[in-house]
Amino acid sequence: MIAVDDILQGNRRALARAITLVESSRADHRAEAQKLLDAVVSHSGKAVRLGISGTPGVGKSTFIEAFGRFLTAQGLKVAVLAVDPSSRRTGGSILGDKTRMEMLARDPNAFIRPSPSGGTLGGVARRTRETMILVEAAGYDVVLVETVGVGQSETTVSDMVDMFLLLLAPGGGDELQGIKRGVMELADLIVINKADGDLLSPAKRAATEYRGAIGLIRAKYQAWRPRVRLASALKASGIEEIWRDINKFRTEMAETGELDDLRQQQALAWMWQELTDGLVQALAEDPEISAALPMWRERVIAGEATPGGAADALRAQFLRHSGG
Ligand code: GDP
Repeated sequence: MIAVDDILQGNRRALARAITLVESSRADHRAEAQKLLDAVVSHSGKAVRLGISGTPGVGKSTFIEAFGRFLTAQGLKVAVLAVDPSSRRTGGSILGDKTRMEMLARDPNAFIRPSPSGGTLGGVARRTRETMILVEAAGYDVVLVETVGVGQSETTVSDMVDMFLLLLAPGGGDELQGIKRGVMELADLIVINKADGDLLSPAKRAATEYRGAIGLIRAKYQAWRPRVRLASALKASGIEEIWRDINKFRTEMAETGELDDLRQQQALAWMWQELTDGLVQALAEDPEISAALPMWRERVIAGEATPGGAADALRAQFLRHSGG
């Protein structure tokens, strides 16, 4: 058994074991995990939640290491989580892998956890959200959730954080090429990394271009317009300005009430998602529905029943006996 007090006191071993429980799909583990989550949830919610996205090679791990160490040097506790549903390998790097952030991994005020492996994006997201509750209850002040642009993973991460950072590298030619517009729309802060040495002037050009591009995007919030910053994760420059932006975002979003609104909406959307996922699973596993399904399939294919009529009949059958 994992003691709730150990987690609340920030015991790393207890925290790591609790996360392992949360990540397990075994029914008894899930039940135990849920008990722990219920016991600690009221202690969560105080952290700054940040999403960080960028294609492989853009410098995510170098940036997280530099940023994380900047934060721990100020006495803050930092947790690094990851969402990578594809497999744990994306372009050669394993998200949240400790060897990618060696110094931060050794820092007693940092806690790094790789992406839960396997399963659907929804499953990975759920486990990461629950892990977030645990690390917050354990007293971590900043939670960084790392992801790459695989399918919907950026949207999924932006739905669990306060602020979404998009890391880009200066490239040749048309800077905006290859960046999905939808991803730009998610970004609250665009960081052009590698703004050092020979790459400094292309980085500045890229920044100008992105400033123009985000100016055309409809604002997500009353309190905040997305910004573009230059940084060098390698030289640890630009980090302080980024942290200042993050604090400004938090203060101004809190003042207008938009931060509370955002978190409430996220929590309710998560609840609704869990509820509907659970219902779909119950439906798929229901023996009576499984037995009735072939007949309805045949009738729909043969044009003897409408898809809507078949769905109505199946739903009615499911509700009739699952309610009792
Ligand atoms: P990730 O795949 O996004 O995590 O990228 P990495 O952090 O592993 O970095 C990819 C490569 O870019 C490595 O060779 C880094 O040394 C290099 N890199 C990362 N940040 C910077 C930077 O600020 N400036 C320069 N010049 N190179 C960088």
